[in-house]
Amino acid sequence: MSDQNLQELYPQLFSFTKKKKCSIRFFLDQDMNRIFSLPLSTQATNQLEEVQTLIQQRTWNADTKDIWCYSWGSCKCSSKKAYKILIGHTETSPLFNWMWASSNLGKHKFFFWLLLRDGMNTRNLLRSKNMELENYNCVLCNSDCEETSIHLFFECHFSTAYWNTIPYAGTQICHL
Ligand SMILES: [Zn+2]
Repeated sequence: MSDQNLQELYPQLFSFTKKKKCSIRFFLDQDMNRIFSLPLSTQATNQLEEVQTLIQQRTWNADTKDIWCYSWGSCKCSSKKAYKILIGHTETSPLFNWMWASSNLGKHKFFFWLLLRDGMNTRNLLRSKNMELENYNCVLCNSDCEETSIHLFFECHFSTAYWNTIPYAGTQICHL
């Protein structure tokens, strides 16, 4: 009927139901005392009237049976479609597509994926996990900079010097 199911639209009325999975046909055919624990509260009564109005506005084919459908409009279960609905659509960096489509080894892709997601166990991340270290500064350059992924891979003097030994990478890495 809408993007929301009746349980979400009419929570007070639903709290009185005896049939958690009541079909429309059952609702139309049965007495109210078989469907709900009576008496209903005022709020639930109002919601019942709304549901009855909603159902009356629809044209129902008496010859067809009620069927349960998923929110994507099909009766067939699809883990792919369920996953998409649960996760939703999020814009991701084209870097991820580039990375997964590359011909690098799987462990290299995983390493780069961790880096892109800022999931490397750098010292700043260990600090956020309450791990006690002597200090949280970069171990490569002995500066007062906190060791973050960005610093470790792109800003640190040691890393910069390393990237510059690979001319192609040195120019490309700046655009990440
Ligand atoms: Zn450093």
